[in-house]
Amino acid sequence: MQTLAEIRTLLAQRGLSPKKSLGQNFLIDHNLIRRLVDAAAIEPGDRVLEIGPGTGALTIDLLERGATVVASELDDGLAALLADTLGGAYPETFTLVHGDCLAGKRSLAAPLLAAIGDQPFKLVANLPYGAATPLILTLLADHPACGGVWVTIQREVVDRLAASPGTKAYGSISVVAQAIGSVERLATLPPGCFWPQPGVTSAMVAIKRRDDPLTDNPRRLADFCQEAFAQRRKQLGPSLKRLGYVPKQWPDGVDPTDRIESLSPEIICHLERACRS
Ligand code: SAM
Repeated sequence: MQTLAEIRTLLAQRGLSPKKSLGQNFLIDHNLIRRLVDAAAIEPGDRVLEIGPGTGALTIDLLERGATVVASELDDGLAALLADTLGGAYPETFTLVHGDCLAGKRSLAAPLLAAIGDQPFKLVANLPYGAATPLILTLLADHPACGGVWVTIQREVVDRLAASPGTKAYGSISVVAQAIGSVERLATLPPGCFWPQPGVTSAMVAIKRRDDPLTDNPRRLADFCQEAFAQRRKQLGPSLKRLGYVPKQWPDGVDPTDRIESLSPEIICHLERACRS
């Protein structure tokens, strides 16, 4: 376990200080770290992807539970610190990938992909908030080996992931997350749980991949939802036509005068399937 004093010392010894531009807000409540690892039910031999290990507070918990951890850290100073500390202490089970975890809005960086391989893994992380939404979406839509994500992110994003049809927070990311996984809010974290304190409230969320996903083509669903929700207030008939989607048959319970924002994830999955040529 790393205390706040230890994190400060680790940084100071290397002349580092938290960078706002990289979302460096370190989680200093150890009970919450344990809660995340418990929720992910980490067992010896599990493969874990951690994005943004920082000084390694969560990483140590994962490694102590016997997990094999692939961690992606963008910050040069923190990457050097991790290589020296965790790289030396856990040479068999800790792999550091120094660099950006994303290659774009919808793909993981190639070195990270190579390090993860194709075996099942879980994402467990206190995510850099700037990367949270694209990262979660691409892992759910494009990486079936990812069994789920257990993460700390902005509360506002958790609200969107868990939102119900007809609410303001309901959107593309709600449909994709709920069609592919079961979304569970684990905790709300006020700014005081972090050092330095972020400007927003955070939350922990678990999205466990469903055994019975509502779609057989998550990427297609994600693209469809992104386009359709860009016109969320428009009637579906004309709006889909403009986007080049023509349902072969309107699914039961959907009318061309409905708006996408009022439909459940299940119905939207039926609709997307009906629009395939
Ligand atoms: N895991 C630590 C903790 O729980 O205290 C630090 C979490 S901090 C919120 C986010 C971390 O992500 C920082 O270490 C930051 O340098 C790193 N980071 C930011 N953007 C990144 C990116 N695109 N790819 C990989 N790491 C990134």
